[in-house]
Amino acid sequence: GHNHRAEFEVTRGFVGGKVPLGLKRKGLRIVVTGGAGFVGSHLVDRLMARGDSVIVVDNFFTGRKQNVMHHFGNPNFELIRHDVVEPLLLEVDQIYHLACPASPVHYKFNPVKTIKTNVVGTLNMLGLAKRVGARFLLTSTSEVYGDPLQHPQVETYWGNVNPIGVRSCYDEGKRTAETLTMDYHRGAQVEVRIARIFNTYGPRMCIDDGRVVSNFVAQALRKEPMTVYGDGKQTRSFQYVSDLVEGLIRLMEGEHVGPFNLGNPGEFTMLELAKVVQETIDPNASIEFRPNTEDDPHKRKPDITRAKELLNWEPKISLRQGLPLMVSDFRNRIFGDHSDANP
Ligand code: NAD
Ligand code: UDP
Ligand code: UDP
Repeated sequence: GHNHRAEFEVTRGFVGGKVPLGLKRKGLRIVVTGGAGFVGSHLVDRLMARGDSVIVVDNFFTGRKQNVMHHFGNPNFELIRHDVVEPLLLEVDQIYHLACPASPVHYKFNPVKTIKTNVVGTLNMLGLAKRVGARFLLTSTSEVYGDPLQHPQVETYWGNVNPIGVRSCYDEGKRTAETLTMDYHRGAQVEVRIARIFNTYGPRMCIDDGRVVSNFVAQALRKEPMTVYGDGKQTRSFQYVSDLVEGLIRLMEGEHVGPFNLGNPGEFTMLELAKVVQETIDPNASIEFRPNTEDDPHKRKPDITRAKELLNWEPKISLRQGLPLMVSDFRNRIFGDHSDANP
């Protein structure tokens, strides 16, 4: 809340919590790696709006300048083209570490690069956090649970992950990133936070990133059949991006390391999702079945008890409420009406 925020401003800008006389900081200096991407750019908007100084570090593999362009010219905003696999020297108070391709199509494109980003990239950002005494938040993933044998997934579940499969570069990469994060916390006393994010959708998703929500929405808008992989009975739980951003900020500013599941417990089969897209866009949208991808998890649904209790957080926007917000952004981008370029 607001009181907490005021206290935060006075005490958090400095290592050790003591504010030197005459040096009261107004906002925080925050790095967002992957800040030109889908989730990162929405997070940047929130941090900028509350008056912080934000540095986006992004190599533009899947991110786009358009996602943050509306901050160009604001003295509180900087954009650095940089690959987190290379070391980076900055002076900051907080690091939100999001840099990593998130869609299966993108992370499988160059699997070794995905592993390097998760392992070396995370190591570098933890080294940075250690050097300057910054608080570090890792955006991990529900994929650490693999093809889960427990349902819904609780943070204490260790997961069921194939170490040698086509998704392993991402799943095992994120698992190692979590390990590194905890080892810097225990060994070097770095203040860390871990979020395990479940499937998230919203404006600014890459239109052709191959994820199911972006595929179905783009297909329905283009009057193409929606491609359902496998029998369509596998499930996912879809979270609207503003709910995730709220959870990430609460986690960063709270007192708990985590890991925390951040996701919407509303669970849908892919066939049910297709039905919601039909209701939202076009009742005549058709469905086409395709073979499923390798190692596809059968079920996924977060247990968010921990985040509810310790972060006082829960998602507010249902799939039926959130989908139309994404559809208007996709409609503008697909049909070239750029009047609303920064949703
Ligand atoms: P995204 O692909 O839109 O954003 C990732 C950003 O990281 C992009 O801007 C990309 O250019 C940048 N990037 C990638 N490799 C980099 C590197 N080596 N150096 C610097 N920048 C690099 O994906 P997103 O959906 O916004 O995901 C953000 C984070 O959240 C990722 O870490 C992802 O694993 C995690 N996550 C997302 C979801 C989801 O459903 N969106 C689910 C679980 C976890
Ligand atoms: N690092 C960085 N920026 C910094 C400090 C460190 O990119 O401000 C990198 C550094 O290059 C190293 C990694 O973070 O590769 C881990 O740093 P740490 O100091 O923990 O370990 P060491 O350098 O002793 O291996
Ligand atoms: N999927 C689908 N049609 C598509 C894309 C994906 O049916 O066009 C399925 C995919 O097989 C998986 C689910 O949707 O079961 C979610 O896939 P996505 O790539 O969005 O995210 P994941 O949770 O697998 O990382």
